[in-house]
Amino acid sequence: MHTQTRRLALQLRHPFKLSYGTTTVRENVLFQVSAGTHSGVGEAAVVPYYGETAERVLQHLSAPALAEALSGDPLLLGDALDRLPADMTPAARAAVDIALHDLWGKHLGHPLYRLWGLNPAHIPVSSFTIAMADDEDGYREQVREARDHSLIKLKLGSGDWRTDLRYVQMARQETRARLCVDANGGWSADEALAIIPALTELEIVFIEQPVARDDLAGWRTLHDSLPVARPPLIADETVQGVESVLPLAGLVDGINIKLAKCGGLRPAMQMIQLARACSMKVLIGCMIESTVAVAAAAHLAALADFADLDGNLLVSNDPYRGIEMRKGQIALTERPGLGIVPAPEQ
Ligand SMILES: [Mg+2]
Repeated sequence: MHTQTRRLALQLRHPFKLSYGTTTVRENVLFQVSAGTHSGVGEAAVVPYYGETAERVLQHLSAPALAEALSGDPLLLGDALDRLPADMTPAARAAVDIALHDLWGKHLGHPLYRLWGLNPAHIPVSSFTIAMADDEDGYREQVREARDHSLIKLKLGSGDWRTDLRYVQMARQETRARLCVDANGGWSADEALAIIPALTELEIVFIEQPVARDDLAGWRTLHDSLPVARPPLIADETVQGVESVLPLAGLVDGINIKLAKCGGLRPAMQMIQLARACSMKVLIGCMIESTVAVAAAAHLAALADFADLDGNLLVSNDPYRGIEMRKGQIALTERPGLGIVPAPEQ
């Protein structure tokens, strides 16, 4: 198999303000693997707050040990994934895993969801994300602009839970869409206990990462103190790869699985099975990514309860196309593998 890597600087349509800081561009890396007449493409989302850098990802993707791992039959996908160097970061591993799945699907001539026997009609409606804004008018405008989406995710964690609640109330006034929220770990357990009853009243669909990534005591407090009739509390930053699922059983109501965190489609599938065994809800999410990584996650999404696959909609220079989203409903194509093609203007 031949490989190729290239940097991909994704320009954001709106500056993306989170509790971690504000972003206007994301430096991802594309990885291509070819065998015979087919080639597969994958993407590494370089997420600074997970400690990834583009340089480190590029290093992993050009390592001789990786070339060695990719020297076999592309149809023996499991073997190739088993041979990947153990020290690869999750984002680099995801790029290779996605590219190998795309290549495998193209050799077999079917889209991935068909090869897995999944029904695309079961893909949940995807949320559209609205970041925090500096001023209330700008925020109301962003919510109004998102009126075509039936599920909107509000990023919270402004530093003051009362401000967060005011933003949710503003959004509630501006749209009839269903709303979910993501605090990105921005609340203490006490703050979360203060705001969650109000969010329950507002019929929020789910609440993501209320407390900090390592605050397991906080998760425990929420689990023990809140009534069962509440929106499901979904761990995002607290959950990473396959090994992180079981320790959260009984602490969280669900997990947000992202390919860039767990290392690709195969570990994501293992996480879904573990989550189901623990009666957890499953949210399939994404980073700020192009159609490459978002399409990969979309092929798995029929197995999830919730989807948050809008990463490609937030960027203005997506180099691929092949998934459509209408009112949050994702449509996959019948093309083999990921089913994506280079965008015409690239
Ligand atoms: Mg999140």
